[in-house]
Amino acid sequence: MEPKKIHVSVSAVISDVNLVAMKWARDHAGERLGTKWYDGEAGTGPSEKWPVSESVRLTIRKIMTEAFSRETCMSELIERIRVAGGFTEEQARTVAETETKFAQCHGNLAAWKRTGVVKSIKWLKSSLHKGRDVCDLNLEAGAVLLGQTFPSGDEVPPAHIGCCCSPCIAELNETKQPNPG
Ligand SMILES: [Zn+2]
Repeated sequence: MEPKKIHVSVSAVISDVNLVAMKWARDHAGERLGTKWYDGEAGTGPSEKWPVSESVRLTIRKIMTEAFSRETCMSELIERIRVAGGFTEEQARTVAETETKFAQCHGNLAAWKRTGVVKSIKWLKSSLHKGRDVCDLNLEAGAVLLGQTFPSGDEVPPAHIGCCCSPCIAELNETKQPNPG
């Protein structure tokens, strides 16, 4: 099977999607790594299952930023994270997939806020979800004004560990007034 690529480009030009994800990753990647959120629990307290030092967190942040700045396949990303954090293969996969999701969705959110073009967004529930969870409530909420939170308390996915949902634009602002800053 072809390795899953998170950055596909035929030229040296970085796509907008990867650029916004890279910018977000540079400042935020790994923020929830080592917190209870990674255990599937609420709160920001430290996780016992994920003892992650600040230096590991910053290394992961650097790896994620690099992943969006050049062509990187998921298997390579997982391996780099596994070595950097001393994780098991499964843990490294969880970190790679979760941090990729965070950077892509929150990168988009930041770009949408910056341009001022997007009025509201919807929560596209992933078909990978088994059974009913908080993402169903987010889906059922319909269009939510940009910057407001969905029922799970999140502005965009992921709502929980393993969440593969995506945000999509529901409505655009009528006047395209770029928001300075
Ligand atoms: Zn979800």
